Amino acid sequence: MVSRVIPVEDFDLVIFGGTGDLARRKILPGLFRRFCSGQMPPAARIIGAARSDLTDDAYRRDIKLALEEFVAKDSRPAAAVKGFLEQLHYVRIDATGTEGWSALRKLTRKDEATVQAFYFSVAPSLFGPLAERLHTHKIAGANARIVVEKPFGRDLESARILNATLRDHFDESQIYRIDHYLGKETVQNLMAVRFGNMLFEPLWNAQYVDHVQITVAETVGVGGRGAYYDKSGAMRDMVQNHLMQLLCLIAMEPPAHFDPDSVRDEKLKVIRALDPPKRDDIVRGQYESPKKGEDYLDEVENRSSITESFIAMKLMISNWRWAGVPFYLRTGKRLKARASEISIVFKETPHSIFDEDSGRHRNILSIRLQPNEGITLGVTIKEPGPGGMRLVDVPLDMTFADALGPETDDVPDAYERLIMDVIRGNQTLFMRGDEVEAAWAWTDPIIKEWTRRGERPKPYDIETTGPEDAAVLMHREGRRWLDIKA
Ligand code: NAP
Repeated sequence: MVSRVIPVEDFDLVIFGGTGDLARRKILPGLFRRFCSGQMPPAARIIGAARSDLTDDAYRRDIKLALEEFVAKDSRPAAAVKGFLEQLHYVRIDATGTEGWSALRKLTRKDEATVQAFYFSVAPSLFGPLAERLHTHKIAGANARIVVEKPFGRDLESARILNATLRDHFDESQIYRIDHYLGKETVQNLMAVRFGNMLFEPLWNAQYVDHVQITVAETVGVGGRGAYYDKSGAMRDMVQNHLMQLLCLIAMEPPAHFDPDSVRDEKLKVIRALDPPKRDDIVRGQYESPKKGEDYLDEVENRSSITESFIAMKLMISNWRWAGVPFYLRTGKRLKARASEISIVFKETPHSIFDEDSGRHRNILSIRLQPNEGITLGVTIKEPGPGGMRLVDVPLDMTFADALGPETDDVPDAYERLIMDVIRGNQTLFMRGDEVEAAWAWTDPIIKEWTRRGERPKPYDIETTGPEDAAVLMHREGRRWLDIKA
């Protein structure tokens, strides 16, 4: 019972950085899946662009290998792979030079019936040169769209400069800033659950919600990204974008319509209502391991690094709906399990009619982004069987696969959905420039203060839930983190 696939308009999608890791691992496998579902029009073209000297055929061979690596064997019948590769082209181009631009101009269509999209899957330092050259070489038409990957700046000033550079050549309505968390099925479902049912919205406020937890836990370390990560840290890499976006969707007021600006206006109001966190409401951590080469400092090859690989924080939102309700955010690397989950923890009933032995119970609405996307509502019922009135919490499980049948295997992943939204011209799930700047404006003073103090993050053992102080952040207020479970 998955909604029908509606083919999108005909398009030319140019992927700058078409030979890179993100293109090979996510973008092209995602497009291949859309091809298999029948969503990609037969005349649509995907044009890889990078500096490597490749012919169309050599590029197709490389992407065939990428599909073999990143798409399960039974999901890539040979005929589909062949058909998809025929829609692929390649242009050798230098983002900072003159080479390749006239070839790209010749290759891309400018008729009104064809959507033009340019995916900047390259280092952020190339976003400006690309935008400028698309404009000066008269490649991008009036309705062209550009897709920009994270990181979008490293502070408010750089984000402002980047926004201004892109807006020199493109209107805000043409700029699609990707946060792939927003493309997840469950994140959209969160909005459907909140705003499509009478049941939840009346309870979605300080009167009924005790607190909210948002956890994005990874088991991997910084790996080969050490040099980049050490200049970034969990705050810039995860909190300022992904966790902030999730928080906004939970905390925002109901938009008047489900259209891009109505939704993004409401998200922006949440960021602006965030209080600056108090010093002892933030715990920063850095992973340690007794094994040489495995701890953070070894991985980033900087024994004096004070960059955090873990952060836990309590945030307060100064508005009527959320006054007094803490939002606890936690994210880190090398933790005990890979799991991303949002939990709305409701208050206890005001009075228990059951005897003390029955215990006090809370409803928890859990929105799980990965793995096993789905939504669970914990409800309290009578423990079945003899033995009197004993209460027990059971999950009402809204996992898609169980509720909607086996076709849910066809649910598009985040990148597939977001790329198709670019082609459709729907910006709802993309960050607007002012949202990104507001998030940096909130983040900047916190990071500046850490830099000023030069404090070392708290060490934590790998494969745990992070530093002990993160647990204390909750305990001191009589709360506890929900377990991180894969
Ligand atoms: P990557 O593997 O290093 O690929 C970079 C791509 O850019 C290559 O195709 C490279 O090809 C091309 N390139 C480099 N310099 C160029 C130039 N002057 N002109 C034209 N093309 C050039 O990087 P990536 O991991 O794919 O990441 C791409 C972007 O996505 C980055 O902004 C990154 O932060 C972001 N991102 C990546 C991931 C991920 O999982 N990989 C996740 C989130 C965001 P040539 O060397 O042949 O030119």
